[in-house]
Amino acid sequence: MLVFKQVKDLQKHLKALANQGQTIGFVPTMGALHEGHISLIKKSKKQAKCTVCSIFVNPTQFNDLKDFEKYPSTIDADMEKLSAAKCDVLFLPSVKEMYPDGTGNKRKIDFGSLAKVLEGEHRPGHFDGMAQVVERLLRIVKPDLLFMGLKDYQQQLIVSKLIEKRKLKVKLIALETMREKDGLAMSSRNVRLDKKARKLAVEVSRTLKEARQQTQDNRQQTIQIQERALHRLQSFKGIEVEYFEIRNAKTLLVPVKKSEKLIALIAVKIGGVRLIDNMRLS
Ligand code: AMP
Repeated sequence: MLVFKQVKDLQKHLKALANQGQTIGFVPTMGALHEGHISLIKKSKKQAKCTVCSIFVNPTQFNDLKDFEKYPSTIDADMEKLSAAKCDVLFLPSVKEMYPDGTGNKRKIDFGSLAKVLEGEHRPGHFDGMAQVVERLLRIVKPDLLFMGLKDYQQQLIVSKLIEKRKLKVKLIALETMREKDGLAMSSRNVRLDKKARKLAVEVSRTLKEARQQTQDNRQQTIQIQERALHRLQSFKGIEVEYFEIRNAKTLLVPVKKSEKLIALIAVKIGGVRLIDNMRLS
């Protein structure tokens, strides 16, 4: 695996590959890699000739400085995992390399209501920072295929809109969430859960599964399922609920018609660690 820290070196390498007609697959990450990230690498390996992974903990997408400072960093282990998955290229830029003119956000994109609800509401500025770094990375790497996880459901909807708005020539492929045996969605933040918090964390996916079952059984109205899920989560001492919402899977707006495709999205804090997850209900 080749490792590049400088934009110009990476671009020189990738330009040569593109000139040979090689397809480039790209997996942007913030490191502390787990099987979820590796599933994206593996998919890219199948579909593209060259797979590029980036590891960059983007300061502009953290609304909470403490969360940024505590974000896990396991670069040696990450490189081993990427090599084992036969990732071709790792891009490991510094903040200065990604933001040569400083981290001020100059070109904000209007994503409408999509970026205002749920994570947008609870993490002000998060999507501005995320879109800013993803656009920069896409302009640097110029991939044909971009692989992202449905675990960050709202994020991949916004990136899809970013690609459309900026007319970028890349196809976004969003892949299923990889889970631990007990259902907990894999996340870099899971390593920060202590024993008690890890035990409680299973209730996140359990609540989603229950909501999905209730929707499929068609026993209750969406609003009742949502209230029941909230009630269930709140009954656990140690789970601080930020939101549990059932929304239209495309717009993330509150559903009004029976025919709409639904998704349940959740954000909680357990033992000081913020976890998000989601599940399609229909
Ligand atoms: P992150 O390093 O958390 O920014 O994630 C990098 C990419 O990996 C994003 O596209 C995430 O949606 C994706 N990802 C994170 N967790 C998972 C998971 N459990 N399963 C599949 N993809 C994931």
